[in-house]
Amino acid sequence: MLGQMQNHPLLISSLIDFAARHHGDGQIVSRRVEGDIHRYTWLDVQKRAKQVANALDALGLKVGERVGTLAWNGYRHLELYFGVSGSQRVLHTVNPRLLPEQIAWIVNHAEDQVMCFDTTFLPIVQGIHAHCKTVKHWIALCDEDKLPKDTGIPHLLSYEAWIGKQSSDHSWPQFDENTASSMCYTSGTTGNPKAALYSHRSTVLHAYAAALPDVMGLSARDSALPVVPMFHVNAWGLPYSAAMVGCKLVFPGPAMDGKSVYELMEAEKVTFAAGVPTVWQMLLGHLGANKLRFSTLKRTVIGGSACPPAMIDAFREAYGVDVLHAWGMTEMSPLGTLCTLKEKHKDLPEEQKMSLRLKQGRAIFGVDMKIVGANGEELPWDGKTYGDLLVRGPWILDTYFKGEGGNPLKDGWFPTGDVATIDADGFMQITDRSKDVIKSGGEWISSIDIENVAMAHPAVAMAACIGMPHPKWDERPIVAVTLKPGAELTRDELLKFYEGKVAKWQLPDDVVFVDSIPIGATGKMLKTRLREQLKNYKLPTA
Ligand code: ADP
Repeated sequence: MLGQMQNHPLLISSLIDFAARHHGDGQIVSRRVEGDIHRYTWLDVQKRAKQVANALDALGLKVGERVGTLAWNGYRHLELYFGVSGSQRVLHTVNPRLLPEQIAWIVNHAEDQVMCFDTTFLPIVQGIHAHCKTVKHWIALCDEDKLPKDTGIPHLLSYEAWIGKQSSDHSWPQFDENTASSMCYTSGTTGNPKAALYSHRSTVLHAYAAALPDVMGLSARDSALPVVPMFHVNAWGLPYSAAMVGCKLVFPGPAMDGKSVYELMEAEKVTFAAGVPTVWQMLLGHLGANKLRFSTLKRTVIGGSACPPAMIDAFREAYGVDVLHAWGMTEMSPLGTLCTLKEKHKDLPEEQKMSLRLKQGRAIFGVDMKIVGANGEELPWDGKTYGDLLVRGPWILDTYFKGEGGNPLKDGWFPTGDVATIDADGFMQITDRSKDVIKSGGEWISSIDIENVAMAHPAVAMAACIGMPHPKWDERPIVAVTLKPGAELTRDELLKFYEGKVAKWQLPDDVVFVDSIPIGATGKMLKTRLREQLKNYKLPTA
């Protein structure tokens, strides 16, 4: 017997219609590429998203065809989110921090027909347009009078002229909720990048989940600032969740340095922010150096790579801001777990609460997870046994775009490539990326643990731990560090700092001082490149 409820498809267009109808005067504030601040409302987003839909119709773009973006977090990007997907085309957010040849590869692979770009990225577009054969329309996200001249890009249009001609009347098409809505390529640290192709259904379900109290806890009383880029897994779904709850959205545009982000937070009374640890490092640096405080910020979601304990401490103790540690991946839309405590943890001593907060957290309803051993056997949730982390659920990848890489699933579960423990309360903790784990004498050493200790030293700005070949132990850990400006530290001082903080056999064998640690296109440490840089390095113990 079937249920007898209405069968409305879960569509992205319904999110913007809802925001416009129920939170029409809710504000969207953006710092523009030009440096000025732009303000308007959810109602304006809806009108202009409909103009985008009409403009795509006018170009003759077919259902399912891809529209690329090379853009910062800003209002025009937001309009494309709703206008492109809402009209049944697929939004392809391209990461502008990739190398131009990687961008061209991705655009060709996705077969983008239209490419909308912020003028900051004009040099990239000038370098690649001749190689992007499928792109028929290049659109600069600017006013007509700001359209760059003599660019060599054929038929370059300004976004404002492009949508300005169109009516803001458009009735969104209704279609199967499993239709593709947007796509995002993984950073491809191994082999060519592969794309996750999201659906309307997966996006709307993820938006519901992300807004839950134990996830991002978003409401109509929030002013939310996504520092995490809209070109990186849809800014963790924030644009969709924000429309769903009708919160205020604040976009930093290209200005992601500590000072600019701080000033915007204060000016726009931001209560909630989300980003990767490297960005928050800059923000905390700015606050510390100028003895500033947050007057409205209440909580921040930090994820994408392990959040150093020192950062959680700084936010909580020094600034009274709650840090929610989150874990996810491109293939998971991206949210998988978030770390919030349970009722029974309320009265725990602060130290024990802290050790829970360091974990990546509990699964969100919709994400089923397990850890398995080498033969696929399920491992116990005891907080100690570690294994490969597998996930499944309605916003988790089934197959990559164009079937690239074959069937990634193992008996219906997606292997995350992460190694983790899960405790009896369901708190998952990432030990490492499986490719970064250090295998020493048959035991595993977590590179994250080693990095966290170094990061807690007051002189250290950043730390990366990698394994080095060792004749007896197979691999031994070393830690590469950069120091804070003006700070001094010797190898022996840092090694001494480790004593008592990790088991003896896990102590790094050496400290290497470097000028910088390579950061990839999504703000994470690029250990592959660090390994290349240190390829002539020899362990003192080898
Ligand atoms: P990539 O393309 O680099 O995999 P993702 O953003 O999809 O980009 O990265 C997902 C990976 O990032 C996860 O599998 C995990 O290894 C790492 N990661 C994400 N969040 C965390 C976290 N909170 N702690 C540790 N690692 C994390």
